[in-house]
Formats: sequence, structure tokens, C-alpha cells
Amino acid sequence: MYIKELVLDNFKSFGQKTRIPFYEDFTTVTGPNGSGKSNVIDSVLFALGLARTSGIRAEKLTDLIYNPGHQEGESFQGQREASVEVVMDNANRTLDRAQVVNAAGSDDIGDIDEITIKRRVKETEDNYYSYYYINGRSVNLSDIQDLLAQAGITPEGYNVVMQGDVTEIINMTPGSRREIIDEIAGVAQFDEKKEAAFEE
Ligand code: ATP
Ligand code: MG
Repeated sequence: MYIKELVLDNFKSFGQKTRIPFYEDFTTVTGPNGSGKSNVIDSVLFALGLARTSGIRAEKLTDLIYNPGHQEGESFQGQREASVEVVMDNANRTLDRAQVVNAAGSDDIGDIDEITIKRRVKETEDNYYSYYYINGRSVNLSDIQDLLAQAGITPEGYNVVMQGDVTEIINMTPGSRREIIDEIAGVAQFDEKKEAAFEE
């Protein structure tokens, strides 16, 4: 499974609906400072529910909505809604139909050669709302997290290496570094289960 396309609509610096294609093996995003490269990564973390708001460089969820006066620090009264779609190629059936049906809570999910996870954030006068979808079916964050975990994608996992992570790993104590290796190797979950069992 791999990400084959992102569709950003009104997300951060992407004021216009923008489709970004990804290749199966390797894709690089280049551009001048401040052109929105990191915002592309933020969009993936946002849509897949893999990071807290601070992890995608926003104080609150509604800061993720495109604001033309952002650099000037102005607040904006325009369209107060942003969305990101992550289109994943599942032709190799990393996730099978039953898993997707279970997560989407519906049989009506179309062809699972493609799995589309979408998140929307909408601001009203006195509140804001966040919505998640799997192949167009409205779901909760936990449904997305459960589904992605079955493909080995988790918030604790190192599926995304953030700016500064490498330096942090170099400066870590050997013990902490070992924890990361355990996480990647998939043995950390057994340590957690062992600890939980000891506690009982
Ligand atoms: P660098 O090379 O310095 O890492 P980058 O390409 O990663 O740069 P980003 O951090 O992705 O750049 O983008 C920063 C830009 O996004 C800033 O110009 C900032 O004003 C803009 N931006 C962030 N949030 C919003 C928003 N809600 N509305 C409009 N623009 C935004
Ligand atoms: Mg950057």
C-alpha cells in the first residue's frame, strides 16, 4: 500500500484545491523556504489522525484553515472549512475488504483498490467540527486508527520522520534509542503487554 495522491482544499497555505500525485517508490517535494513543503506532510498527519495539533504546527485545529492574511497575523472571515484527502493505493490488498468494511461500518465502500481517507475541519461562529471519512463513509478517528494500525501505520510508529527527529535520535541515551528500535521491530507492544500483565 502506498499514498498515490493527496487532495488539499483550503488547507494551510493551499488556498485552492490542489492535487498532489505521489509515486510508488520515491517522491520528493522541493521548493523555496516557506512554499508549503512541510504543510504537505502536515496534511497527511492531519487527515490520518497521526499527530496532535501542535505536531502539525498549529495552536488550534482552525489554524489549519487557509487564511490569506496568515503571514501578517490577521484573522480571516472567509470560507471557514478545510479538507484533506489521502488516496492510498491498496491494489496489493495490504488491507482486505472485510477490514475496510469493518472500519467504515458499511458495505457500500466501492472498490477497495483505492482507500481514501478524508478529514474536514469546519468552523462556525461559535464552534468548530472535525469529520473523518473512509471511502466516503463518515467514521470516527478510532475507526481510522484501527484500520491504519492493521497496515502498520500508528501515531507511535516512525512512519513519518519529522524535522529534528534525526538529531534527537543522535542525542538520545542508548536506552531511549533502543526503545525506538523496539517500536520499529514491533516488539514494543509485547513489553507493554508484559507490563500490563505484571500489574494485574
Ligand atoms: P522550509 O523550507 O522553510 O521548511 P516549507 O516549504 O516547509 O519551508 P511550510 O512550513 O510548509 O514551508 O509553509 C510555511 C508557510 O505556510 C508560511 O508562509 C505560512 O504563512 C503558511 N501558512 C501556514 N498556515 C497557513 C494558513 N492557515 N493560511 C495560509 N498560509 C499558511
Ligand atoms: Mg519545512
